[in-house]
Amino acid sequence: MTTLLAHNAAILVTMDSQRREIATGGLFARDGIIEAVGPTSELPSVADETLDLNDHLVLPGLINTHHHLYQTLTRAVPAAQNVGLFNWLKTLYPIWANLTPEAIFISTQTGVAELARSGCTTVSDHLYLFPNGSRLDDEISAARETGVRFHASRGSMSLGESKGGLPPDRVVQDEETILRDCQRVIETYHDPEPGAMLRIVLAPCSPFSVTGELMRETAALAREHGVHLHTHLAETLDEEVFCLQQFGHRPVAYMEELNWVGPDVWFAHSVHVSDEEIGLYASTGCGVAHCPTSNMRLASGIAPVCKMLAAGVRVGLGVDGSASNDGSHMLAEARMAMLLSRLGAAQEYEVSDLARRQESPDSNDGGPPLMTARQALELATLGGANVLGREDIGSLEPGKCADFFALDLNQIEFAGGLHDPVAAALLCAPVQTAYTVVHGKLVVKEGQLVTVDEGRLVEAHNKAARELVAR
Ligand SMILES: [Zn+2]
Repeated sequence: MTTLLAHNAAILVTMDSQRREIATGGLFARDGIIEAVGPTSELPSVADETLDLNDHLVLPGLINTHHHLYQTLTRAVPAAQNVGLFNWLKTLYPIWANLTPEAIFISTQTGVAELARSGCTTVSDHLYLFPNGSRLDDEISAARETGVRFHASRGSMSLGESKGGLPPDRVVQDEETILRDCQRVIETYHDPEPGAMLRIVLAPCSPFSVTGELMRETAALAREHGVHLHTHLAETLDEEVFCLQQFGHRPVAYMEELNWVGPDVWFAHSVHVSDEEIGLYASTGCGVAHCPTSNMRLASGIAPVCKMLAAGVRVGLGVDGSASNDGSHMLAEARMAMLLSRLGAAQEYEVSDLARRQESPDSNDGGPPLMTARQALELATLGGANVLGREDIGSLEPGKCADFFALDLNQIEFAGGLHDPVAAALLCAPVQTAYTVVHGKLVVKEGQLVTVDEGRLVEAHNKAARELVAR
């Protein structure tokens, strides 16, 4: 039995059903599970470990629903800096073909460490290339050492250039090998229990890199074992054209035909979706990983997040990348989601407002409703938990996992912003955490990573990145 007391926080944000924000708040956890949340005066006063979070803001751990950790090795590669998705991929595929098990291990630790320092406690990663003997196991063992909660997606690519796909033939695998390995990693690693630190997801990469047959068989295998399904969908107009030409369907209709809709499915991006397609997501329970920075970086477009939320679609956030971001900062991603949604709302509003003002020049309804900081925070916490199908994370309340982070409010980024510290965490420049706790254990303490040696990791990572690109 190990107990943790975190108390005296300036504000503790619960994200519970009443969205309580507790002044001088704290929580008490036993063996990684929260037993009590409330004002410090109402909590136990002793524990095996105590964190005095005076002048700190405490928030539920952020949940990253889409990432490719290996891409931290190819951030800011010059030839891929200023191009859209398809040319970006074609530039990077040959470099990624040089990945090794060691490179995957190092890059996973780097990406996860960066995420943990930005408040992220649950990481869902999508690994879909396995060159030179690499396996999903390489990233699983790396993530385990860091102490974060991890959803490892066994990705796949089977449709090489010679068969009409986008990736070069040397980075794709045959479908029998893929399905056999999917089964192996589920049987070896998947933990369906509440509080699980590791789950497996099956995740063919995208409609333009796998066959329809593999999508169907992957869905059947996942459902046989009760694991979730994930892929990229409706990210760019290039993809829409590809799907119409190759399959005679828009991306979402293609997924429907392949039996790839349901509450066990979530799609990354969904930038180019119609109102009817949003309705299909809502009625079938499909989730969406919204990746605003990547969508801006690759000029993919603005995902209609507010429309999805209004329709009842489950939406979480993903940093994506990390060569299309080129960062892994979850708090920054929540801020980007808030800002980009405001831009999208304004653009839509302008069109209707122009017509309205032409009819009645004096009309002014004050503009469109804007996504608030708290709504963005909800996407990054409860929204992400919902997308990953987890009821045990996303909020701080008794019975849930003790996953949280604390921001020091006494720093220059928040100076003058303490009129509303919760909103300041999103509206002011993104900072790094003072403490990040996963399942009651410290991953970041006093601003420093506890589980990995950051200096050594950065050195090893830069060496691996140089070797990868130089090959
Ligand atoms: Zn992606």
